[in-house]
Amino acid sequence: FAPWLDPSAVPLIRFENVVKRFGDFTAVDDVSLDIHEREFFALLGPSGCGKTTLMRMLAGFEAPTSGRITLAGKDLAGVPPYRRPVNMMFQSYALFPHMTVAQNIAFGLKQDGMPKPEMEARVTEMLRLVKLEPFASRKPHQLSGGQRQRVALARSLAKKPKVLLLDEPLGALDKKLREETQFELMDLQQDLGLTFLIVTHDQEEAMTVADRIAVMNHGKLVQVATPGEIYEQPNCRYVADFIGDINLFEGTVTSAQGGLVRLKSPEAGAEFVTASEAALQPGAEVALAVRPEKMRVSLEPPPAEATNPLRGEVWDIAYLGDWTVLLIKVEGTEKIVRVSRANVTRSEARPIGWDDKVFLWFAPDAGVLLKS
Ligand code: ATP
Repeated sequence: FAPWLDPSAVPLIRFENVVKRFGDFTAVDDVSLDIHEREFFALLGPSGCGKTTLMRMLAGFEAPTSGRITLAGKDLAGVPPYRRPVNMMFQSYALFPHMTVAQNIAFGLKQDGMPKPEMEARVTEMLRLVKLEPFASRKPHQLSGGQRQRVALARSLAKKPKVLLLDEPLGALDKKLREETQFELMDLQQDLGLTFLIVTHDQEEAMTVADRIAVMNHGKLVQVATPGEIYEQPNCRYVADFIGDINLFEGTVTSAQGGLVRLKSPEAGAEFVTASEAALQPGAEVALAVRPEKMRVSLEPPPAEATNPLRGEVWDIAYLGDWTVLLIKVEGTEKIVRVSRANVTRSEARPIGWDDKVFLWFAPDAGVLLKS
């Protein structure tokens, strides 16, 4: 299911050239973006990049300075927040401390004047949804952080909005609980068939939960793509650097033809060859971006057909549990490259250790060429 790949699909939410200024500061800078029904969409970027402001404009808490936001083709300008089929769950959860879990969940329904039997049925449904049935009559202070988070989620889903906005929803949870809750959120979104828009500065979180991610910087959208594309094909240095670990080799193009670009990288003391269809002239300044797991490393010289050889010395080893990263200083330079230890060749007689001299290489299709 990938409606964003179908050009005829009508988006549920459309931002058209949306700008938001606070005084002379531009928080959101000419954002155009389509989000489709049943998408789990993430706005990702560092603190202050404008992601919350973009979401608040969709919720109706802020009005755009210029541009247009439509939902199912309807212009939202002037529509107050409570009339929008959109609900926002805040990072602080904002639960009422003196109310029980059930009363918290029922709050918005009561305000809307929903008849009691219907309201009770809806609250039961929501409690079941977030697996909190035994906790209906507890107060928020009698719950764990994860349970409070689920109450807030149930409350924001109780009115059955078309779109749920999640502003750093898991920020208060510890790492393990956050990871578990990410999977719960994904299940919930799929079961309910809703559109979720999440704001996060945590790239792993965005990669885990989202169908597509918009990476933002200084109020602008930098790249909008699936997690896989963002990781494998970052469109600029900013995205390459923000998402995961990356080795960037700065260099100058020496030739570009037949889908192969050659470049000279003084900082790595090497010449590289990389597959790229980019129209580049010799002399162009570029960076070759290679993920740590795409670099091969061995104590033995590489096979004769290996491309992009480098030699270096192990400078540090970072054990991260599920994988190990070797930091390797490239011979004759100050360049440090990161290599995943999973890529140690099988014939290795002993594990690579500190201060070992090693051979490195990577395939022409291992890297992505980024323009300066
Ligand atoms: P964070 O992750 O820290 O919440 P963010 O990417 O969500 O960051 P926003 O909250 O959208 O960022 O804020 C973007 C910029 O706009 C920030 O520099 C912020 O200081 C500014 N800003 C937001 N709201 C206002 C406001 N009401 N008045 C003035 N400036 C504001």
